[in-house]
Amino acid sequence: MRFVWSLATILLLAALSGMALGASTEFCLVTIPYEGLEQLRQLASWGLQIINYQGNVLAALSCDGQIERLRQAGFQVTVLDWAADTRLYYVTYPSPADDFAPLSAVEAAYPYARDVHIVRATSAQAEALAMRGVEIVKLPNCVILPGRQPTMADLQARLAHSPGVQAMVDAVSPTLLVHHVCKLQDDDSLDYCNEFGTRYSYATAKLNEAAQYLYDEYATLGLSVTCDAFVYNSKPMTNVVAELSGVGPVSNHIYIICAHYDSISWDSDRYKIAPGADDNASGSAAVLEAARILSQYQFPRTLRFVNFAGEELGLIGSAHYAGEAFRRGDLIDGVINLDMIGYESVPPNDHIVEIHAGIDPASIALAETLIDNISEYGLLLVPQNITETAVKCGDHASFWNRGYAAILGIEDLDDFNPHYHSRNDTLANMQTQMMVEYTKACVATLAELASMPNETTPTPTWAAPPILRRYLPIVLCKWTSSNPTRGP
Ligand SMILES: [Zn+2]
Repeated sequence: MRFVWSLATILLLAALSGMALGASTEFCLVTIPYEGLEQLRQLASWGLQIINYQGNVLAALSCDGQIERLRQAGFQVTVLDWAADTRLYYVTYPSPADDFAPLSAVEAAYPYARDVHIVRATSAQAEALAMRGVEIVKLPNCVILPGRQPTMADLQARLAHSPGVQAMVDAVSPTLLVHHVCKLQDDDSLDYCNEFGTRYSYATAKLNEAAQYLYDEYATLGLSVTCDAFVYNSKPMTNVVAELSGVGPVSNHIYIICAHYDSISWDSDRYKIAPGADDNASGSAAVLEAARILSQYQFPRTLRFVNFAGEELGLIGSAHYAGEAFRRGDLIDGVINLDMIGYESVPPNDHIVEIHAGIDPASIALAETLIDNISEYGLLLVPQNITETAVKCGDHASFWNRGYAAILGIEDLDDFNPHYHSRNDTLANMQTQMMVEYTKACVATLAELASMPNETTPTPTWAAPPILRRYLPIVLCKWTSSNPTRGP
């Protein structure tokens, strides 16, 4: 990162960094209004431990001296919680947006952004919120801000039509996609493709059946498959990760296509019935089908096919995976997350879909590549590229939190699935053509991106300006035992 170092900036840095020398191990949860990504980066470069940011306000862990100096620098710092504990924080997005009644059932709810709260909640309280229709996102103990430039890879990828890629697009099978949704929505003990299964995030045995199905499908394709296991709220959960290794000098560069496979129903019998066909057997099926086609080829870059658990509890599985990937130093060039890609009202049958890219230039370039391919390969989708107002309550956001480029592919949120999170979210209530077209767009995009042979700019990750490093607060974005709280 490069800065224009004005004298005022340097003096301010010196003042701010001074507090780090006497940093207490006690942290407060604070919010600070900010203007634009550059100011966000500036605050991070001063050693502020940002744990979330919305359009114009951020949440951070801070201590007394730092708060004082931020105020002296003109920032409006509001302390929400004097004894921060990041194990307990969730961002909540109520639905409808002004229904805050469910928030009365948590330890504390703090107004944050417009209609958005940060809550301090036990995992049981968080589950109760999800059951009452509140979208929840578990907060990490640190986020990495996106880099400044689109990666060269993303730019090079916007290639002209290719007959080879066209053949892959044409190979997408509507029959297999529907088959996967059937297998994921049903109860294996009953007839094929019934609607009485569950993949509720806490329904461990049923979720394991689904994980086994995904695992076996990938293994049959000859991919190397691993279970990325974790524990949340004392319950074992697992992400399923399949890999097609790249061949050659850029095989350490990785593209990911992913979807969560857990589900939820607001009905009380969710442990028995939560078919989750559109949300999100549709995305899971697309990932499986993309794996089937792309695994028949070799690419210079590595492709990963990932299905997450724990999404409905606050993006738990993807946060675990992205955190581990970051800690390993995985060079993830881009992530396509699919979540709810099989519903629209008929009429109007307008094929509108939304690509949520956020504000990161590399993510926007990835979205533009996908959108280019929708027209390049004549697919029946009408994409909208969503930037500033992108939703942050999907698994793509877990990758944003680690500085990776990521996008969400989803149906038209202005034409919302009325069967969402109910026992009626079944294949019969889907429009499967959208899932087919989405899968084709992703196959084309991943084939092009993974084909690029040249070394390109690695995914940028945040680094402190050199002169500041020795003064930075001890907790900064590290996953060590000196953290005030455990890692994500
Ligand atoms: Zn979902």
